[in-house]
Amino acid sequence: MAPLTYPGPVREGLAARRTRQREAIMEVLKEATGPIDAGELLLRSRARLPGLGLATVYRTLRPLLDDRCIVPVSLPDGSTAYELGGRRPHAHFLCTSCGRLFDVEAGPPCLPPGTVLPGGLVVDGWSLMFHGLCRTCRASGS
Ligand SMILES: [Zn+2]
Repeated sequence: MAPLTYPGPVREGLAARRTRQREAIMEVLKEATGPIDAGELLLRSRARLPGLGLATVYRTLRPLLDDRCIVPVSLPDGSTAYELGGRRPHAHFLCTSCGRLFDVEAGPPCLPPGTVLPGGLVVDGWSLMFHGLCRTCRASGS
């Protein structure tokens, strides 16, 4: 009888790893109450995928940004935070004390894409960032 051969342990392919990284990042963003930056994304994703590194977070973000599954939010200091794409237009609130970002379901009257402003400027979209103190910082008097 021929000896049994074993194929050896299943190796985790790059595709599977990438998928898990993608899922972890998407889950973290789904649970977030506002846009978060790559560092915070890393911290929260590590709870699901220990050993995850910042370079991997950026590598995973790129195709998600290309596909608009995730959209960037530009911050006043020039840095970037991220949130899920495909959402209703909404504004953000930046706490000037702790730096946290919150989604705000308030904003200017919605300008549908294609709206023409004076001067023949055609609107693609809008972004609005409120500044102030969040509830926690206000309560702690900072
Ligand atoms: Zn705050």
